[in-house]
Amino acid sequence: MELPVDEDSVTLIGDVTTGLVLVDIVNGFCTVGAGHLAPKVPDKQISRMVAESAELARAFCEKKWPVFAFLDTHHPDVPEPPYPPHCIAGTDEANLVPALQWLENESNVTLRRKDCIDGFVGSFEKGVHIQTPYSLNPHPPIRFV
Ligand SMILES: [Zn+2]
Repeated sequence: MELPVDEDSVTLIGDVTTGLVLVDIVNGFCTVGAGHLAPKVPDKQISRMVAESAELARAFCEKKWPVFAFLDTHHPDVPEPPYPPHCIAGTDEANLVPALQWLENESNVTLRRKDCIDGFVGSFEKGVHIQTPYSLNPHPPIRFV
């Protein structure tokens, strides 16, 4: 499937702080057989996306540049129609894929669980929803890729 995005190369330079946002690279969406919305068989696009995300994250962490990762996470009693149950809190489905689990120990990485397609609306922390878009310190400006 062709995605409606413009692909371009990214050159990591040091003249502006650059951040990386990773969205839902969790087992429940990316690991074969991990759940209702996970691939049923190995998928080349997903494998490539995971590998490229891990490579990018490694480069950002080496520079101690900010990395922000959303993790789709749902309470078992709160469905997300029209989707079947997925990424239930406390299960491995809601955790980062094995290739990215090391991010949990990096000081420049922020992990944020969310229970909605829109990470700005559905973002929560310690069980408390954050109703406004998460705030990123605007000074210095951060360019996200
Ligand atoms: Zn979800």
